[in-house]
Amino acid sequence: MSIAIPPVKGMNDLLPAEAPLWQHLEGTVRELLHAYGYDEMRVPVVEHTDLFKRAIGEHTDVVEKEMYSFEDKGGERLTLRPEATAGLVRAVISNGMLRGARHKLWCIGPMFRHEKPQKGRFRQFHQVDVEAVGFAGPDIDAELIALTAAFWRRLGIARVTLQINSLGTADARRAYRAVLADWFRARYDALDEDSRRRLEGNPLRILDSKNPAMQDMIAAAPSLPEHLDAGSRAHFDELQSMLRALGVPFVINPRLVRGLDYYSRTVFEWTTDALGAQDAVCSGGRYDGLIAQLGGEPTPAIGFAMGVERVVELMAQAGSAPAARGADVYIVAQGDAAVRAALPLADALRGAMPGRRVEVNLGGGNFKAQFRRADRSAAPLAVVLGEDELARGVAQLKPLREGAGAPSEISLATAPAAVAQWFDGQA
Ligand code: ATP
Ligand code: MG
Repeated sequence: MSIAIPPVKGMNDLLPAEAPLWQHLEGTVRELLHAYGYDEMRVPVVEHTDLFKRAIGEHTDVVEKEMYSFEDKGGERLTLRPEATAGLVRAVISNGMLRGARHKLWCIGPMFRHEKPQKGRFRQFHQVDVEAVGFAGPDIDAELIALTAAFWRRLGIARVTLQINSLGTADARRAYRAVLADWFRARYDALDEDSRRRLEGNPLRILDSKNPAMQDMIAAAPSLPEHLDAGSRAHFDELQSMLRALGVPFVINPRLVRGLDYYSRTVFEWTTDALGAQDAVCSGGRYDGLIAQLGGEPTPAIGFAMGVERVVELMAQAGSAPAARGADVYIVAQGDAAVRAALPLADALRGAMPGRRVEVNLGGGNFKAQFRRADRSAAPLAVVLGEDELARGVAQLKPLREGAGAPSEISLATAPAAVAQWFDGQA
């Protein structure tokens, strides 16, 4: 016997017992995004490494440490996507979708980051990614954030808080960057290694540090809102008014800079106190400069990404997911001839009752064993087909739950209608 091959560290299997939660989340996402006017788009999981370097920024955790990059057999430098915005924006440009047009787009799928695996932090994880391209805001900013709030409501998730901030325009950020760099340079000895490197590359990234030893200094550093340009200030003020009008509570966090370089003006993050250290569940912001930076015509845009694993965990805690669904009908069939009749009967039942699960007892077994399986399938109804029934062209309906009515005999010819009627009678 050979040794079993282990899974890749930090990459999870989704087991059948967990699938209903994911499906519920995905269904809610699909429905809600449709309601807000967003269209699904699907892009490759692999892109040119340069795309992420240019979009996310060289001096970020993601690009510095976390990317799964490799050279393929043709010598191309490729990377498993660590996030979705870069790929979606690349696709919008590649497909000639800009030309002044506006798009509300979303996608869902796996992302890859070589981080230290722990609770709520994986190497393959999933994001719902939502992007509004061609909108300057702040109206779309408010609508987009309200959409995330609606999402929590629909999923029954209460323990989340919204933080917002404005990073200003690229020019205002440059000015703030210079102030910040001077300030940190004056405290060079107290900086950790990452921060020293970022000081020259992008001092704003220092504010994004997760190192507890850096937090006091970060709290004392010059604050970004004081350096906001007038246009961004007005944009931010109007966003706040709109959020109030929408009834979406928020907290302004002047230290919120977000981990990726491409943001400008509005940034936001939803955090929770229910998941321990991995407290970010959804974050995003405006990236007015990114599309031009990637070679598209200058187009304002805003988007966010939601961490599916963390949201699924919140749903599990809130008990907001529907119970897993078992079978609806279990066909007990004794003998080869009965099985031959049961298979097309099951197809006819599935056709008559779309969405219902109809299982045929496969692999034989006596009546007792078959009924045990029927119980385990959780079906409320068994359809019994023995040799005697077959000879008479009938089947027995056997309700398997207390109070679900008495057994009865139906004709095979009209079985689909009769079984569908039985379910209608249960509703
Ligand atoms: P964190 O601060 O937890 O590292 P981040 O700022 O790197 O998050 P983003 O790049 O903004 O995260 O991604 C958006 C969301 O994706 C996060 O809020 C989080 O819910 C989720 N996420 C990010 N990295 C991981 C990961 N390694 N495993 C699971 N979920 C993740
Ligand atoms: Mg991270």
